Amino acid sequence: MAPSAQTKRILVTGGAGFLGSHLCERLLELGHDVLCVDNYFTGRRSNVAHLFDNPRFEIMRHDVTFPLYVEVDEIYNLACPASPIHYQQNPVQTTKTSVHGAINMLGLAKRTRAKIFQASTSEVYGDPFVHPQTEDYWGNVNPIGPRACYDEGKRCAETLFFDYHRQYRLRIKVARIFNTYGPRMHPNDGRVVSNFVVQALKGEPITIYGDGQQTRSFCYYEDLIDGFIRLMDTEDSITGPINLGNPGEFTMEELARTVLELTGSRSKLVYHPLPADDPKQRRPDISKARSLLGWEPCVPLKEGLRHTISYFDQLLSTQNPNAVPES
Ligand code: NAD
Ligand code: UDP
Repeated sequence: MAPSAQTKRILVTGGAGFLGSHLCERLLELGHDVLCVDNYFTGRRSNVAHLFDNPRFEIMRHDVTFPLYVEVDEIYNLACPASPIHYQQNPVQTTKTSVHGAINMLGLAKRTRAKIFQASTSEVYGDPFVHPQTEDYWGNVNPIGPRACYDEGKRCAETLFFDYHRQYRLRIKVARIFNTYGPRMHPNDGRVVSNFVVQALKGEPITIYGDGQQTRSFCYYEDLIDGFIRLMDTEDSITGPINLGNPGEFTMEELARTVLELTGSRSKLVYHPLPADDPKQRRPDISKARSLLGWEPCVPLKEGLRHTISYFDQLLSTQNPNAVPES
C-alpha cells in the first residue's frame, strides 16, 4: 500500500508477544508504519518473523523500563508478561515493567504528542464483589499477595495515564482486557486455555486448579484487536477505561470438558490446589464498549477454540516447538 496522509508511525511495545504480534500485523494491513519493541521475556521473534520482509515493519530489542527515544504518532503499550506463572517469576521486574514502562512510554508520548493506548486488565478488579464488572467498580485487590506485582502494577499504570492526561493533556486510551486466547500463545505460557489445549492434545492430565467452579470469560484475539483499533480511533474525549472482553462466562471445568470434546482427547481431569488470590468469578460488562465503540465480540468460544486447537496441533507436530505455524 502506498504511503498516504492516513499513514501513521505506530509503536507497539510487547509487539513480539501473543497480542502484540497480531496487533502489528493488523496495523501493517491498515497501511501504517510499525515499530515493534520487545525484550523477548515472553515474546518471540518468530511471532513476527513473517513481517520482516515488509518495509513498513521494524523490530527493536528494548526493555521498556529504560527510556526510548523515537518519533511516533501513536503508541500501543502492551509490554508486560500476562501469564501468572511468568509475571510471578520476577515480580519486581513485573512491577517495574508496568510502572517504569508506563512512565517511559508516557514521557515519549508527551515529547512527541503521540496518542497512547494502555493494555490494562480485568485484574484491576481483583477478586470482584461486583459481578459482572463495570468500569466504575474500584476492585478488590490484595496489595501484598503474589498477584499484586501485576494487579497493582497495572493499577498504578492506569493512575499514571490519568495523571498525564490531567496534567499534560495527553491523549490516552485505557482498555481493561479480559482473558483473551488464540494462536501464538506460547505452549508453555501457563494460562488456562493454552494449558488445557496442549494437555488434551498430548493426552496428558488436564490440570484444574481448585474445584474448577471459578469462572472466566474468554475473548478470541481477533475480536479484541478490533476493539483496540476502534478505541484508538475514537475522539480525544474518550479516554476509557473501557472493558474489552467476551461476556460469555464459563467455569474452568466447563472449559476443560469443551476442550476434551473438541479435541476428542481422553485426558483425565486432575485437581490441583487453587493458587493464592485466584479470582472466583469474572465477566465483563461491555455496555460502554458497545455504545462508545460500536464493538462486541463475534467469535463464539467453540469456534475460537477450534482455531486455537488446530494451531497447537500443528505446532506440536513440528520438530521445533518454537516454530510458529500459520495462524
Ligand atoms: P505476552 O506475554 O504474550 O506478551 C507480552 C510481551 O511483552 C512479550 O512479548 C514480552 O516479551 C514483552 N515484554 C515483557 N516485559 C517487557 C519489557 N520490560 N520490555 C519490553 N517488552 C517486554 O502477553 P499478551 O497476552 O500478549 O499480553 C499483552 C498485554 O495485554 C500485556 O500488557 C497484558 O498485561 C495485557 N493483557 C492481556 C490479557 C490476555 O488475556 N491476553 C488480559 C489482560 C491484559
Ligand atoms: N487454571 C486452571 N488450570 C490451569 C491453569 C489455570 O484451572 O492449568 C485456572 C486458574 O486457577 C484460574 C483460571 O484457570 O482460575 C484462569 O487462569 P489464567 O492463568 O489463564 O488467567 P487469570 O487467572 O489471570 O485470569
